[in-house]
Amino acid sequence: MSDLFDFDRPARYAVMGNPIQHSKSPRIHTLFARQTGQNIEYSAIQVDPGGLEQAIGNFEGSGGKGLNITVPFKRTAWELMDRLSDRARLAEAVNTILFRKEGRYGDNTDGVGLVRDLRSNHGITLEGREILLLGAGGAARGVLGPLLAERPARLVIANRTPDKAYDLADRFGALGTVRGCGLPALEGQQFDLIINATAASLAGELPPLPPDLLKEGGSAYDMMYGAEPTPFLKWARQHGAASCMDGLGMLVEQAAESFSLWRNVRPETKPVIETIREEMKAS
Ligand code: NDP
Repeated sequence: MSDLFDFDRPARYAVMGNPIQHSKSPRIHTLFARQTGQNIEYSAIQVDPGGLEQAIGNFEGSGGKGLNITVPFKRTAWELMDRLSDRARLAEAVNTILFRKEGRYGDNTDGVGLVRDLRSNHGITLEGREILLLGAGGAARGVLGPLLAERPARLVIANRTPDKAYDLADRFGALGTVRGCGLPALEGQQFDLIINATAASLAGELPPLPPDLLKEGGSAYDMMYGAEPTPFLKWARQHGAASCMDGLGMLVEQAAESFSLWRNVRPETKPVIETIREEMKAS
């Protein structure tokens, strides 16, 4: 059917991942669409291991306009794009796809989402600060470029498997003062801001951390979010953190960046963060 007759059909978007049933992305994008008057439909699609290329092809072939990609497929998606944004190329991970006439365009909005949440929603200054990033997996890789663009005094990546932290520090070394280490090497160091990008909180665990790791008045951020504070945020509160933040704001901010790439209109994030927070507490 010609586009002429399609004007009142919703434009279709989706998030692909595994597992996907608890994803908050459909709710977030529905709230954005309502707020901005955009006619879109956004669904969650569970993809089997090894099935991403086929699933993306099916969605694109059926007229879908764009996709979000989440765990565990961001790296695979990066390999399947025709063109990449600089930030996706650097992260070697794609969380946002735009289907364009010229082909599939992959971007990564995770880092900008984190930085906007820290700066705009929480008023945290990153420039000139000493920052510790715990973890060296996909989430850490996605946020390193945008964090270093804020010009911290130094950024340390500490990981349970130290080699992965060394590799990431090498890869991003041209962008700023960044060093990799294992968790025991944190003994005796102090930071203004600690960002937990490990999956430890998912398992209700806490990486082993020295008690005086946070400077007085420092801040703690856990990329994981939930109705209750994570073990890392409880630890930070007990060890003098002036502010403790979870990753819900990052989730909504990265979604807002995807939404504006797709629809050319930027939604307001604060009311959406508040709504999702209330819904999480109520459920
Ligand atoms: P990955 O599986 O790619 O990486 C996991 C990382 O956590 C690795 O560095 C791993 O270390 C480390 N780790 C796992 N368990 C432990 C533990 N018990 N103690 C210490 N370190 C541990 O996961 P992602 O990077 O994709 O995700 C990490 C977290 O970030 C998750 O909680 C995820 O929900 C969250 N996230 C939030 C987003 C948001 O928008 N708020 C966006 C993306 C992610 P090792 O290398 O030694 O295995």
